Amino acid sequence: MILPRYVKVAPELGLDRLFDYEIPESLAGRIELGQRLRVPWGKRDIMAYAVEFPLQPEVEKVREIGEIIGERPLIPPGLCKLAKWMADYYACDLGAALRTILPGPVRSHEGGGKMAWWIEPVLGRAAIAEEVLQGAKSQKKAWEHLCAHGGNWLSRLVKEAGLGTAVWRALVDRGLAERLEKRFVLAEEKAEAGWADASRRPTLGEEQVQSLAEWNEERKKEEGGRPILLEGITGSGKTEVYLQALDAVLEEGRNAIVLVPEISLTPQTVARFRGRLAGRRVRLCVLHSGQTVAERRESWHEIREGRAKVVIGARSALFAPMDHLGLIVVDEEHDGGYKQGEAPRYHARDLAVVRGRMEGASVILGSATPSLESGYNADRGKYRRVRLTRRVDGAKLPKVHVVDLRKEAKPKSGGPVLLSESLKEALQSRLQKGEQSLLLLNRRGYAPSVQCPHCGQVEECERCAVPMTYHRGEGKLRCHFCDAEKRAPTQCSGCGSPVLSFTGAGTERLEEAVVASLPGVRWTRMDSDSMKARGAHRKALEDFREGRTDILLGTQMIAKGLHFPRVTCVGVVGIDSALNLPDFRASERVFQLLVQVAGRAGRGEVPGEVFVQTYTPFHPAIQFARHHDVDGFREQELEYRKAHGYPPFRRVILISFSGVSEAQTRASIQHVAGRLREIWKGESEVPEPAQAPIARVEGKFRYQIFLLVEKVAPVMRDLKREVLAQKWPAGIKVAVDVDAQDLL
Ligand code: ADP
Ligand code: ZN
Ligand code: ZN
Repeated sequence: MILPRYVKVAPELGLDRLFDYEIPESLAGRIELGQRLRVPWGKRDIMAYAVEFPLQPEVEKVREIGEIIGERPLIPPGLCKLAKWMADYYACDLGAALRTILPGPVRSHEGGGKMAWWIEPVLGRAAIAEEVLQGAKSQKKAWEHLCAHGGNWLSRLVKEAGLGTAVWRALVDRGLAERLEKRFVLAEEKAEAGWADASRRPTLGEEQVQSLAEWNEERKKEEGGRPILLEGITGSGKTEVYLQALDAVLEEGRNAIVLVPEISLTPQTVARFRGRLAGRRVRLCVLHSGQTVAERRESWHEIREGRAKVVIGARSALFAPMDHLGLIVVDEEHDGGYKQGEAPRYHARDLAVVRGRMEGASVILGSATPSLESGYNADRGKYRRVRLTRRVDGAKLPKVHVVDLRKEAKPKSGGPVLLSESLKEALQSRLQKGEQSLLLLNRRGYAPSVQCPHCGQVEECERCAVPMTYHRGEGKLRCHFCDAEKRAPTQCSGCGSPVLSFTGAGTERLEEAVVASLPGVRWTRMDSDSMKARGAHRKALEDFREGRTDILLGTQMIAKGLHFPRVTCVGVVGIDSALNLPDFRASERVFQLLVQVAGRAGRGEVPGEVFVQTYTPFHPAIQFARHHDVDGFREQELEYRKAHGYPPFRRVILISFSGVSEAQTRASIQHVAGRLREIWKGESEVPEPAQAPIARVEGKFRYQIFLLVEKVAPVMRDLKREVLAQKWPAGIKVAVDVDAQDLL
């Protein structure tokens, strides 16, 4: 074997550009991908990571690297390879991919990343403390805290005592405390906190046993086998299958990653993993967006050093820096939250499959309503489909009633129908019986638009081409795209008419209708407005679980992963606007949402009922959801996708341009379209650039080219050169989104 002579490195603090260095004789064969290195840089040294071993350097004069830092690579070599894959597939810089994989808090840390400030009281000064601290209330409190509890990490003190770093620094300045830089180790109580009450394994049902057997058979094959598509109806025990697969992997001394769509919305799932792992005394690391910089760094090293064997988190948890990966679970694989909205626009489910294959780990994608893409992959045998067709304990799927709103009497107020007669009756009877209900309306605020009945003017956002939503609670209009707000008008801004009508409905308006039609009801509204406060979501769920509330109403937040045996009624109040979005996935998304939310009903002994209110009762998404017919929907939808050449038959690549000058933006994207037509000469079709469905956001005009391609790689090579690497007029932003999910 020839040892590499050159290495490409990415500087730690500016990963975006790569530089070549020579490997000196003394270090030959000792550098691995992802290794942290000290390299000469001008007159000084900097830290950098080894990311590639080129045969030849790109420049003539290369310098030698200085030394290797740390015994093993800080970035696991597997993740370096994944970064390269991302950079190629999603056409981003390798640096941008590395940045995604290695979070800022880890990179910015000096000396291998484990030093922190420790504050220790100088007890010998206690006698004078009283006098010194006279009048300094916060510092006095800090001092007392230190005396009572002893020294601690600064970050912990800030949290526990609720006092900022400046206060602790002042104590140090006054000589009452000492500040030491120490290697960071986890405090014992923190380590213990990861162990919740142990929970027992239930005896698996027949189908669950079968699923695990198939998974086991598959993963013995080369490279961890094919991904398993675990297609199980709601409440069929998928999570239990994940848990036992996890057990098997841990038993073999391998590690696992579990992805959930949104960690804060899935406390029940997290608690189940915690409970089960507690029994094994295995450390679980939960990654979530609420973590502080220090916590993220701490988690990262905990995982890297092998102390945490299981990681659970949202999409970025896929980049958990572990070796010996045995299993990656992607729960609710159809969820749009797995796609990152900004560059690199990766899809965590797809990357999970790639990482699994690269590292020989098995991958389980689970859902009651798999995405068309994954369903099609299973149809073709690229994934192995495993089914759970029955609910645990034999509970029945709920009966779904489709309520035709065209036949419903209009309310006298002139507002929209929120609770049809049949839904109202169903809710009333649940109240009487002490059972619970869920109401879904996937729109927050009071009314999605405010219109003048006199001249027809709609209040629009000044910066975006969308109507502003009326939020009655705050008395404001809000733009849901840029979050701009203004006072709710009392008269039309066009003609001055003093009467304005609020069209459509959001959760605030639904709340109003619920209170008006159900005297004595106890309810919680759950949407991103009402759940802003820390812990609000958890409390709402607890209240509901304990039976302190009768109705949980809200946006799709209420449709995710909840398991409440006393819910026997689910109402879907408004779904039509989602069906009418200009997006080929609109129907699929509505179908998934309906099946998911319907699946929240009837998980206990009492069978459930679902009411779907709509003006288009015969829409296939509604009709197939009514019969819980996932296969039927897939077949019909695949036909439509095939006829139009939409995914999964081809790939979508969305090229977007935006800019303050509309003419310039349009001219730039038209130039691209022209160039692409020249290069591809009819090999691939290049449609005319079009205004985005939302033509202006934050004052910028938006244009798109919607490409459908057979193969991504060759197209991306051209797009990298013709779009991403070009110099566009100042102020023009370009983006290329592979496998785009958001087409608006
Ligand atoms: P899914 O993820 O498919 O919606 P879950 O795994 O959450 O289903 O299972 C639904 C409920 O049934 C949970 O409360 C779970 O604890 C319970 N459950 C799952 N499998 C079993 C089993 N084999 N025996 C008893 N209870 C089970
Ligand atoms: Zn008017
Ligand atoms: Zn706006």
